[in-house]
Amino acid sequence: MKRLHYYLLNGGIDVMTSKTLDHFLKENLDDLKERGLYNEIDPVEGANGAIIKIDGRELINLSSNNYLGLATNERMKEAAIEAINEYGVGAGAVRTINGTLDLHVKLEEKLAEFKGTEAAISYQSGFNCNMAAISAVMDKNDAILSDELNHASIIDGCRLSKAKIIRFNHSDMEDLRTKAKEAKESGQYNKLMIITDGVFSMDGDVAKLPEIVEIAEEFDIMVYVDDAHGSGVLGKGAGTVKHFGLSDKVDFQMGTLSKAIGVVGGYVAGKQSLIDWLKVRSRPFLFSTAVTPADVAATIKSLELITNSTELQDQMWENSRYLKEGLKKLGFEIGNSETPITPCIIGDENTTQKFSKRLNEEGVYAKSIVFPTVPRGTGRVRNMPTAAHTKEMLDNALAIYEKVGKELGII
Ligand code: PMP
Repeated sequence: MKRLHYYLLNGGIDVMTSKTLDHFLKENLDDLKERGLYNEIDPVEGANGAIIKIDGRELINLSSNNYLGLATNERMKEAAIEAINEYGVGAGAVRTINGTLDLHVKLEEKLAEFKGTEAAISYQSGFNCNMAAISAVMDKNDAILSDELNHASIIDGCRLSKAKIIRFNHSDMEDLRTKAKEAKESGQYNKLMIITDGVFSMDGDVAKLPEIVEIAEEFDIMVYVDDAHGSGVLGKGAGTVKHFGLSDKVDFQMGTLSKAIGVVGGYVAGKQSLIDWLKVRSRPFLFSTAVTPADVAATIKSLELITNSTELQDQMWENSRYLKEGLKKLGFEIGNSETPITPCIIGDENTTQKFSKRLNEEGVYAKSIVFPTVPRGTGRVRNMPTAAHTKEMLDNALAIYEKVGKELGII
């Protein structure tokens, strides 16, 4: 609409110059602001822990994916510092030239062990891992059955592959089965893949993996699970696939190292042949510089901590139950999350933004999430309780939620 409006005003000129581009972008940015769809960025002054400092004010942080509090873990920091002293700050090259340090190899061995697979490959982020792995395996002669609520990086990876994308209704196994059968019986495609988040990032519900695997087996389809929010959280830390005991039934166990693991990076764990293929065919592995030694060393330490004890996971679950019960009791709509992800669903985008802003003014940092991250009209403030929160912090946050919720007529 806006775009059309602008072009009509300008006599239908459709060649953009730097001047008209500037005007076009500003007009559209103003439009996003008016509709509550513009996300302001608030730089954090210091560590991203349970308490964060923004604009000189300390706030209870309910917005980080730092599930286990490991982003500020002392032992991981020490491991990173040691790695910097030994290896320097940069890996120096892409993985296939000479950017593969022995640390990367160790990390990948640990990831395979963590996920119960033959091998693993790591990338610079979860986002580019999805882009890399999907497009390295699927092509224009293939089809991908993709849950409609899958993460943006899955969507982009599917698009990049040029495979036919067949969306199925969110966690609707009947719809998936019908579409899988149609795709198989059409005889049109060389390869078929079902792809799903393990835990859906905006609602916290868990994919129905046992049913997905059953459908995949019936029609001989590959399964790809993005477990960004399940790793370190479900299956005693090993993730959603392990939680359901399906390690040998899921071909691609993808995950990120940036959430519960507390650092940065992405990976795929699977059969040796798949990992070897990704090493020669996935473009970010071939053409983008390897993750830094400090990040890799901290990640290795993180995996050790997660596999050696469930203490942090237990604390995270306890905190998440406490916050959920508290919000529910206050009368907030928190959806059907089965994991620590705790949305407060508000609906209208402007009210959602106002709610988040008022929480911030009162001392809670809980970021609003609106379209296009979630469907229009389902704006929410997403809360991420972690192992690092104390009961006192959660009680303070709940008191602020009550005050602001009542003030805005949400509860
Ligand atoms: N997949 C899912 C489901 C995610 O939530 C995210 C992070 N937002 C990613 C992939 C991307 O991971 P990263 O932040 O490591 O790029």
